[in-house]
Amino acid sequence: MSSDAQQMQQGVLAGDRRALSKAITLLESQNPAHRSLARELLEGILPFSGKSKRIGISGVPGVGKSTLIEALGMLLLEGNLSQAPQKIAVLAVDPSSSRTGGSILGDKTRMQQLANHSQVFVRPSPAAGSLGGVARRTLECILACEAAGFDLIIVETVGVGQSETAVAQMTDLFMLLTLPNAGDELQGIKRGIMELADLVVVHKADLEFTATQRASAELTAALTLLTPHDAPWRPRVLQASGQKATGLLELWQTCLEYFDTLGTAKLAQKRQNQQQFWFENLLREQLWERFSLEQGVLLELQRSRVGAGEISAFLAVEELF
Ligand code: GDP
Repeated sequence: MSSDAQQMQQGVLAGDRRALSKAITLLESQNPAHRSLARELLEGILPFSGKSKRIGISGVPGVGKSTLIEALGMLLLEGNLSQAPQKIAVLAVDPSSSRTGGSILGDKTRMQQLANHSQVFVRPSPAAGSLGGVARRTLECILACEAAGFDLIIVETVGVGQSETAVAQMTDLFMLLTLPNAGDELQGIKRGIMELADLVVVHKADLEFTATQRASAELTAALTLLTPHDAPWRPRVLQASGQKATGLLELWQTCLEYFDTLGTAKLAQKRQNQQQFWFENLLREQLWERFSLEQGVLLELQRSRVGAGEISAFLAVEELF
C-alpha cells in the first residue's frame, strides 16, 4: 500500500473526522487519476467495515425526514438507551441534486443539532453522475464511515426515480415516511416502493389524529397483502412525530426487533445479495458507457434507423453486435 493510502487509512480507522472527510472526497472523486489511490484505500478499510446497522429513510420532500432523523438521532445519542449507537452517520442519495446543483443535505440549516454533534457525521449526496455512480460512491462512503467506527448509518433519499430502490439495496432496513392524509397518499405511493419497505411511518402524527389512524389501518392492510407468507419479517406501520418527538422510542425498538428477527446469518445473506445486485447494475452501466463511447456513431445510426421504422429494434441490436 502506498504511504498516501496508508496515512489516510490510519486516520479513518482512528475515527478522525477530517481524515474521514478527505477519504470520502477521494472516494467520490470523478477524476480517473484518483481511482487507483481510492481503490487502495478501499481495500485497506474493507476488513474494518460492515459492523453497523444500515437504515434507509425515504419519503417525498416535506414529509419530515430531516426533522425525524434529527429527533431520533438526538434521542439515541442523549437518551441513555440500551443498545443505542455510539456514533451516527447520515448520508444522502439525491439523484435530483445533479440537476439542481443543490442537494437534500446541502442546506446547512437541516439537522442543525445533529450536524454539530461530536458523534455525528453528516454528508450530502455526491453531486453528479448516474444513479449507479452515485450509489457506488454512497456505498463506499458507508464502508468508510463503518471503518471510522460509526455504528448506525442512515441513508436518506427523496422519492425520485429509482433512488428508493438504490437505497433499499444498500441498507439493512428500509423505512418509508408518509403523511396522514392517507387516501390520496396511498394512491401516490407506488406499489414498488411499498414492497421495499420494512417499516412504514405515518409521520407528523401530531397533526390529525383521525387521519393518522385511518392511514395506519389502510397501510397495514396494503402491506399485509404485499408481504409473502414466508417472509422472515412482516413490515409494520408506526406513527411518529419528529417535531413533537413522539413515537421515536417505539420506532427505534422496532428497528432493533427487525435486526434481532433477521439475525446475523440472514443479514449477511441480504448484504451479499445486495453486492450481487450492484455488481450487475454497475457492469451493465459501464458496458453501456463504454459501448456508447467506442461505438457512438454506429449506435446513433441504428437508433435513428429504428426511429424511422427502417429496421426493427431486435435486428438493429443484432447488427450492432
Ligand atoms: P424533509 O424534506 O422530508 O426533510 O422534511 P423536513 O424535515 O424539512 O420538514 C418539512 C416541514 O415539515 C418543516 O416545516 C417541518 O417543520 C415540518 N415537520 C417536520 N416534522 C413534523 C412533525 O412531526 N409534525 C409537524 N406538524 N410538522 C413537521
